[in-house]
Amino acid sequence: MSTSTLTTELLDRLPGQLLIGGQWRDGSGGIFDVVDPATGQPLRSVADATAADALDALDAAAAAQSSWAATPARQRAEILRRAYELMRDRAEQLALLATLEMGKPLVESRAEVAYAAEFFRWFSEEASRIEGDFRRTPEGTHRILVMRQPVGPSLLITPWNFPLAMPTRKIAPALAAGCTTVLKPAEETPLCALAIAEILVEAGLPPGVLNVVTAADPAPVSAALMNDARLRKVSFTGSTPVGSHLLRTAADRVLRVSLELGGNAPFIVFDDADLDDAVAGAMAAKMRNIGEACTAANRFFVAEPVAEEFVRRLAQRMSELAIGPGIDPRSQVGPLINAVGRDKVAGLVDDALARGATPVLEGGPMPGAGFFFAPTVLTGISPDSRLLTEEIFGPVAPVLTFRDEDEVIAAANDTDFGLLAYVYTADLRRSLRVAERLEVGMVGLNQGVVSNAAAPFGGIKLSGLGREGGRDGIEEYLETKYVGMAE
Ligand code: NAD
Repeated sequence: MSTSTLTTELLDRLPGQLLIGGQWRDGSGGIFDVVDPATGQPLRSVADATAADALDALDAAAAAQSSWAATPARQRAEILRRAYELMRDRAEQLALLATLEMGKPLVESRAEVAYAAEFFRWFSEEASRIEGDFRRTPEGTHRILVMRQPVGPSLLITPWNFPLAMPTRKIAPALAAGCTTVLKPAEETPLCALAIAEILVEAGLPPGVLNVVTAADPAPVSAALMNDARLRKVSFTGSTPVGSHLLRTAADRVLRVSLELGGNAPFIVFDDADLDDAVAGAMAAKMRNIGEACTAANRFFVAEPVAEEFVRRLAQRMSELAIGPGIDPRSQVGPLINAVGRDKVAGLVDDALARGATPVLEGGPMPGAGFFFAPTVLTGISPDSRLLTEEIFGPVAPVLTFRDEDEVIAAANDTDFGLLAYVYTADLRRSLRVAERLEVGMVGLNQGVVSNAAAPFGGIKLSGLGREGGRDGIEEYLETKYVGMAE
């Protein structure tokens, strides 16, 4: 079957409605279009939820909460495991859907399907390992019993850049812990979220445990939910300004909050690093997801003796990448998400150039349909350039140099963000010393990709609160209850 026939069939077959209490239904706000960033043309429309629809979704989540919490962990796990298998069975369709609505090359969408599905598998395994504690008081007068219980109905808000993995990274631990959920996916990429919901329904998820509200305007939907006493938690992945706004809103009802926010990752190359590895890692850390990742290397710091060679090789590799629509199997760089995103990246490059930067590889916004931006490498960056303090979210690599370890650590930490850092060195002692001194939640040591369902993903400072994945991921959806018992 040709890609275009497959595309039409896939898009026509998707529900495109809200999922509330196990029923697919229209949104009270009508519909809105999802746009293909490779063409700028609408792909299809989906339901537009209002605050009233969102409260219906919370009614359903609240009604299902006690029975879902009482469902044996093994049963919850088996549903997640089936969802994992269905995602793997439908990998090609899901990858195509992610590419269509988000723009990334198909090969990357396939990798995202595998990563996204892994959260269902990992948390299916964690569901039955929720532990408690039992001990006697040191005085020997009482017993201490500590139990772990689901937090309760949770609002999950996800961004557009990983339209499959961001929803599964939240849904899987919430369901494993026994929480019911309302998912509010990004308005740019609701189709993948709907496909995941369809899979969970097919996997046997009871009505009301996952509800999905797609909305063109997210603010009234999230405000209505967060002001309702039945909601107990909000888990948000997205930009730092929206995250801190939601944190303030959550304060009114003292909601449990998890935040995965923006990054400004330093990519540090010491002079003893294997340069082939460092360049390969730099390509992954910069170009994965067309640079539209919170984990993207935002600032490259390269030791002076190897800087020239590193820049030469990086610029060479970036210049060889094929730019084009993600559905073309030859494409290695797809379009950016929309005109606003593309223009923001262009503005950051213009600002750096105006402050004296040298374009080693001159890319920039591309004419024609879609929101394409050619890879760019800059050196000679002035310290007051905006791209050193703001998330670039595009295929632009600013390279700076350094002389010694103290200098580079100070520069790497000189940011309000603290998601992750990449470090390339052959010296084991230095690896650990530097990892300890970097103010981040994650470190990639001689590796350009850190994401893994089994690892605790998250940041410090303005990059967020809490962790997703690993053993920590499920903790975000559990409360601790202490029962004191007299001897
Ligand atoms: P965004 O903050 O604009 O949107 C994220 C989500 O929040 C979307 O679902 C959106 O509809 C919703 N939203 C926006 N305004 C809202 C409001 N006022 N009230 C309630 N919800 C609202 O971010 P984005 O542009 O979709 O995503 C890019 C950002 O996400 C980047 O900053 C990136 O670093 C971050 N991100 C972080 C991680 C991480 O794990 N740390 C992962 C992926 C993306």
